[in-house]
Amino acid sequence: MAQCEQGYLCSVCGSDVENIWDSDLYLRYVIGQVDPETLHTTRERHIRCNPTLAQFIVDPEFELVLVEGPFDKRQLDAFYVREQERLITRGWRRLKDLAHQEGVSLLDYPLPEVRDRMKER
Ligand SMILES: [Zn+2]
Repeated sequence: MAQCEQGYLCSVCGSDVENIWDSDLYLRYVIGQVDPETLHTTRERHIRCNPTLAQFIVDPEFELVLVEGPFDKRQLDAFYVREQERLITRGWRRLKDLAHQEGVSLLDYPLPEVRDRMKER
């Protein structure tokens, strides 16, 4: 999205994914769930349109997402939930930071520990 002025369409709701901090694809990329090689072939969607991931973003600027059913974080292991919240909230804040920066290489988008893992391969 940074390279391209035009937004991508969400595969869930069909509307524009306007900002990088709305992007489920880039969120999963910065936290290491999407490889750089598959970034451009993976379908885009809004973070909010992927509630099982979005529920782990805990930030005053992010409107809380709740999931009903077996993937509801209130039903999951507390330790796992804390780890996920820490990682995914940091990832989301990283996207907010990146939105205000220019000239950052796509390979430098991910969180530091994810970049380290990428270098090791
Ligand atoms: Zn959507």
